[in-house]
Amino acid sequence: MNVLNADLHCHSTASDGTLQPREVVRRAHANGVDLLALTDHDELLGLPEAAGAAAELGLRFVPGVEISVSWLDQTLHVVGLGIDPSNEALIAGLAQVRGGRDGRAERIAVELERIGIRGALAGALRYAGNPSLVSRAHFARYLVEIGISKNVHDVFLHYLARGKPGYVEHVWATLEEAMGWIKGAGGLAVIAHPGRYRLSQAEMDILFDRFRDLGGDAIEVSCGAHDGGQVLAFARLARKFGLMASRASDFHGPEDSPIDLGRAPPLPPDLTPVWTHLT
Ligand code: AMP
Ligand code: MN
Ligand code: MN
Ligand code: MN
Repeated sequence: MNVLNADLHCHSTASDGTLQPREVVRRAHANGVDLLALTDHDELLGLPEAAGAAAELGLRFVPGVEISVSWLDQTLHVVGLGIDPSNEALIAGLAQVRGGRDGRAERIAVELERIGIRGALAGALRYAGNPSLVSRAHFARYLVEIGISKNVHDVFLHYLARGKPGYVEHVWATLEEAMGWIKGAGGLAVIAHPGRYRLSQAEMDILFDRFRDLGGDAIEVSCGAHDGGQVLAFARLARKFGLMASRASDFHGPEDSPIDLGRAPPLPPDLTPVWTHLT
């Protein structure tokens, strides 16, 4: 690739990735990534280690975060890039979002117990590198371990996705809160993997309109979750709303991710890459 190999969304053991922050950075470097953002769910804990490892390797590093948001009846993820990790409102806001995860994990375990799966909270916690950040991905790994499903994908299909027995409704941050925290910390805001949301075209338009009004900067056009058609469809939406484009693997670990670090498809050449606005 003769353009910058940017990967602006991935996870470490500070949330639900399986590699430690320094291991994520080393793998990105080995894969030829030129610019990397670590964006753990609702958590900044991995950033100092990742930044240190990147400095040792001479890899350009961007501090990031992926914030869980409730909008209409959906969960959306908003990535903040180039945020100041010492910003107090951001730190307090993320602590509030993480706080909600504890009770939710207990409720997930209760629902799983109803269908005969015991010990799921303790099991999930064994997979959580950060006990204050229990994600459905940790439950999924435990359910695979005890033979409930053959892989994480199947667990989500049958147990942890909305409408399935282990799913519980949860209220995350509002879009306004998440945008306020990211913009207040000097970051750029990016709508993560829009192809994963169950929104009609009209709802998607309302979302991007509102996002732009709140100071939103970019859409993840190229990401691990999008097929070729979705890359083109979200490129069209980026043009329509005058938003920049991001490129992201959403890597969670060598066994857990369809796309490795630095391997998301290139952006359509007419779009403005969000990294042109990252200093
Ligand atoms: P949570 O934030 O706790 O609701 O967990 C969401 C996380 O679960 C995502 O960030 C992914 O890591 C994982 N996840 C969600 N859906 C799937 C899926 N269909 N297959 C595999 N992992 C998934
Ligand atoms: Mn995740
Ligand atoms: Mn996400
Ligand atoms: Mn992610």
